[in-house]
Amino acid sequence: MTKRVVLIGHPVAHSLSGAMQQAAFDAAGIDAAYELWDRAPIALPAAIAEVRGDEFLGANVTIPHKERVVPLVDRLTEEAQATGAANTLTREARRLVGHNTDVAGFEVALDRLVGRQKMPRQAVILGAGGGARAVVFGLVRAGFQRIVVFNRHLHRGEALVRHFSRSAAHMELRAMPWHPSIIESEIARTKVLVNATSIGLSSDESPIPADIIPGDLLVLDLIYSRTRFLRDAEAAGCTVMDGETMLLHQGAAAFRLWTGQEPPLEVMSEALAAARAEGLRSAEGEPADDQGAASGVATATPAG
Ligand code: NDP
Repeated sequence: MTKRVVLIGHPVAHSLSGAMQQAAFDAAGIDAAYELWDRAPIALPAAIAEVRGDEFLGANVTIPHKERVVPLVDRLTEEAQATGAANTLTREARRLVGHNTDVAGFEVALDRLVGRQKMPRQAVILGAGGGARAVVFGLVRAGFQRIVVFNRHLHRGEALVRHFSRSAAHMELRAMPWHPSIIESEIARTKVLVNATSIGLSSDESPIPADIIPGDLLVLDLIYSRTRFLRDAEAAGCTVMDGETMLLHQGAAAFRLWTGQEPPLEVMSEALAAARAEGLRSAEGEPADDQGAASGVATATPAG
């Protein structure tokens, strides 16, 4: 019987995960089909109930359901518990386990970005959504001592800080108001800068002015194209990486969980590149709007 894996989101039509995971199943000789389920929030509980069936290996969950799915599963892993979000589900008989493989994906990206240097201890994160939560938890686990989160709506940044009050109790995690002069002074004190907002996804805009980016930072954009933010940072002399590594490795971690096999990384990476070349641009946690697709931003080459 062909096994099933589904991506549950709203919308999901433009997701890159389908191409990446199907190529991985095929290359590994696993008889499984990856399906895209577009489900509005009201239909989420029924979709989750269906995934408990024997024919399912598991599921991916994406925007806007990563947090909503948490109370609908039977058990959460440490990453899902800590972030309050799950992007991957596995089955234990009829019980469902919620995982957050964005954390593992971010950890691989961080390691590559830092390279042979000593792991830094200070970071500034722009954004406080689901992606930012995975970043914060990855940084806490990597031993960072000071993390400052800037978000347009300060209350969401503050909620993020409250959420991590226990896991980040030993270090300084702060939310600050989205104001260019405050961002500038915090960036001047940091070593790692992460864009976890969706600014730059569907327009050629950067969340911050180019002239406040110092030249010696390690800069990551969770968006997996060569955004204006990354181009500005690179022009300033920073080491930069886009979100493709994180996307690939969150998918690889999900594949490992569903199949118990090592993911065919090269095949997955090639499938991602091919899907991007066709103009697909949505990843886990990424809203797809037709305007952005039409603007052709998707075809920009990755920086990292
Ligand atoms: P959310 O919708 O949860 O969060 C969006 C974030 O962007 C919020 O902080 C929001 O601020 C901010 N934002 C959006 N528009 C603006 C604006 N005009 N001005 C200022 N801030 C803005 O999304 P996610 O956290 O899931 O995803 C964020 C980005 O990260 C997306 O581009 C997504 O593709 C990417 N991502 C990539 C992953 C990967 O594997 N590479 C994994 C997960 C995410 P506010 O709260 O104030 O609205």
